Amino acid sequence: MVHMIRPKTRQPNGERTFMNVQTIETAIIGGGLSGIYAACLLQQKKGSYVVLEARNRLGGRIVSPEFQGFFADLGPSWYWPEIQPKMARLIDSLGLIGYRQFEDGLGRFERHDGTVQTVRGFAMQPPSFRICGGMNAIIERLCAQIPSDAILLNHPVSQIEKRADGVLLSVGELEREPWKQFRARQVILALPPRLAAATILFYPDLSHELTQAMLRIGTWMAGHAKFFAFYEEPFWRRLGLSGEAFSEFGPLNEIHDGSNDGAGPFGLTGFVGLPAVQRKQRPHLNEEILTQLSRIFGAQASHPAAFFYRDWAQEPFTATGFDQPPMYEHPLYQPPAGQTAIWEDSLLFSSTETSTHHGGYLEGALAAAERVAMRIRC
Ligand SMILES: Cc1cc2nc3c(=O)[nH]c(=O)nc-3n(C[C@H](O)[C@H](O)[C@H](O)COP(=O)(O)OP(=O)(O)OC[C@H]3O[C@@H](n4cnc5c(N)ncnc54)[C@H](O)[C@@H]3O)c2cc1C
Repeated sequence: MVHMIRPKTRQPNGERTFMNVQTIETAIIGGGLSGIYAACLLQQKKGSYVVLEARNRLGGRIVSPEFQGFFADLGPSWYWPEIQPKMARLIDSLGLIGYRQFEDGLGRFERHDGTVQTVRGFAMQPPSFRICGGMNAIIERLCAQIPSDAILLNHPVSQIEKRADGVLLSVGELEREPWKQFRARQVILALPPRLAAATILFYPDLSHELTQAMLRIGTWMAGHAKFFAFYEEPFWRRLGLSGEAFSEFGPLNEIHDGSNDGAGPFGLTGFVGLPAVQRKQRPHLNEEILTQLSRIFGAQASHPAAFFYRDWAQEPFTATGFDQPPMYEHPLYQPPAGQTAIWEDSLLFSSTETSTHHGGYLEGALAAAERVAMRIRC
C-alpha cells in the first residue's frame, strides 16, 4: 500500500544520509475518533491511506483503562442518541450496546464551607448514554475495518510542506532531523486546529489570519482532569443516592455514577474543578479526591478497588499552553477562518473542533470525518 523511495537528506554536520520517503495517496494525521473514522470511510472507498498517530496508542481523547473487564472512560463517556444521529447509527452498526447513565435517587451538594446536603436528583435531558466496553470499544471496532499496516503509532508529524506534486510530511523532532517522511496527494489534519498551529511547521506559511483562527479554536475539554474510582459495591445506591454530586468546595466539582450496566464493578467518576496550574501544585490530589468522595458518599468511598486519574492539560498531543485555563462554556465550533481545506484541497481540516454539527463532541468528530472523506479523491 505504501511505496518507498530513498532520497538523500543533509545532516546538521553536513553529511548526507538516506531517509525513507513513503508515497501514499492520503495521509491522515491523528488517530483519534475523527482520524480513525475517516480511515474507515476511505477504506470503504478503496482509497490508499495511512494514519500517522503521535502517541503509542489510538483514540486520542478517548481512553478507557481496564479493571476486571470493565473500562474506565477518562475522556468522553457520554453520547446523546436522541440528538446525535451519527453516534447512534455508528454504535448500532458496530454492534455496540449503549446504556442510560444511572441517575436514580437523590443527589448530593457540597457547599463552599464543606458541608454536604442531600438534594433532589435530576435526570439529564436529553438522556445521556454510556457504552458497554467503554468508549474505546468504538475505536477498537473501527480499527478492525482497517488493515493494521495502515496505522503507524509513535509517528508525530512535525512539518507539512506543500510541493508541486502534493504534500511532504516530516515525522519526528525537527531539531534532531526528522526520521521519516511521507509524500501524499492529500492530507487530513485530524487533530485539534489549535494543536496543529502550535506544534507543526507549515511551508509555505499559513496566512496570519488562518493561524490566528486556528489558535483561537479552544480544544474542547483539553484543560480538564477526570478521575474514575472502582468499587466492588455501589454503596451509594443503597443509601438512596444516585452518585451524582456537585461541589463548591472541591477539588472535584462534578461527580457521577460511572458503573457498568448490570453487574459490577461499580464506579464513581467526575471532574476536578481546579485549573491546571493549581492541579500541578497539589501533589496529594488523588488523596484529596478520595477524602472528598468519603465526605459526600461515606467512608467506603475512600477505599476504591482501583483508581484512575488523567490530567488532559498535561498531555502534549492534546493540550497547548492556551488550553491550561479550563473552558466552562461550549463554543460554537466551525472550520478555522471558515476554511475546510487549503492548498487547492490538498490539506483538509478534520477533528471535532472544525465541525459546525456538534463540534467538540464525538458526534462532531464523526461529522468532520464524513466531510473530509467526501472531498478525498480516491
Ligand atoms: C475529559 C473529557 C471528557 C469528554 N467528555 C465527552 C463526552 O462525554 N461526550 C462527547 O461527545 N465528547 C466528550 N469529550 C470530547 C471528545 O473526547 C472529543 O470530541 C473527541 O474525542 C475528539 O476526537 P478527534 O479525533 O477530533 O480529536 P482527538 O481525540 O484529540 O484526536 C487527535 C489525535 O491526533 C493525535 N496527534 C496530535 N498531534 C499529532 C501530531 N503532531 N502528529 C500525529 N498525531 C498527532 C493525537 O494523539 C490524537 O490521537 C470529552 C473530552 C475530554 C478530554
